[in-house]
Amino acid sequence: MKHIAVLGGGLSGRFTAWGLAQQGFEVSLFDKGTRTGEQAAAYVAAAMLAPLAESVEATPLVVELGRQSMDLWRDITGRLKTPVFHQENGSLIVWHGQDKPLSRDFQQRLSRANQGQNPTVRWYAADIAAHEPQLAGRFSDGLYLPGEGQLDNRQVLVSLADTLEGIGVHCH
Ligand SMILES: Cc1cc2nc3c(=O)[nH]c(=O)nc-3n(C[C@H](O)[C@H](O)[C@H](O)COP(=O)(O)OP(=O)(O)OC[C@H]3O[C@@H](n4cnc5c(N)ncnc54)[C@H](O)[C@@H]3O)c2cc1C
Repeated sequence: MKHIAVLGGGLSGRFTAWGLAQQGFEVSLFDKGTRTGEQAAAYVAAAMLAPLAESVEATPLVVELGRQSMDLWRDITGRLKTPVFHQENGSLIVWHGQDKPLSRDFQQRLSRANQGQNPTVRWYAADIAAHEPQLAGRFSDGLYLPGEGQLDNRQVLVSLADTLEGIGVHCH
């Protein structure tokens, strides 16, 4: 059996090691940091699964890959050894009064990126208070983007470590 070394154990390295181990390779994963992944970008990332919001500045290919990733993440989080927080309740974009012009620019770019379709739902203060009580009274309106999601990346990193160790990947 071939023995493969994966260098770097952020999300990419951990997923690569998992995929190779599932194909039957003996795998060693090396990272200069820790099992919990403090050195990995994922440790500080917001972990938003937000292809729609990012479509205002990302290329169509990146947006399409982001959309496909929604299904992949659902599958992945279901197969990890330990549970991780994963929601697909949508994203909410809010702005303070002085940033209102930026919000109009954002909506125009979003509409352009989505062939003139408006994929958002306008929420007013009462909607925001009902759905996100912690934001109540702070914003007069916002844009709700259905279907987007979020992970707890720190849990993902640890759960990947659990999963890799559970299938015999040598983690260094
Ligand atoms: C602030 C922030 C917010 C983000 N928000 C989002 C978001 O909302 N949604 C989203 O999808 N993405 C987000 N991202 C991007 C996402 O987190 C990264 O694209 C992803 O985590 C990159 O993973 P990676 O494994 O490719 O790289 P890294 O996480 O950088 O992993 C590289 C690993 O290699 C190790 N390493 C480096 N050099 C060596 C060496 N010489 N020897 C051994 N090990 C080494 C490091 O310790 C590290 O663990 C965000 C990123 C940041 C920084």
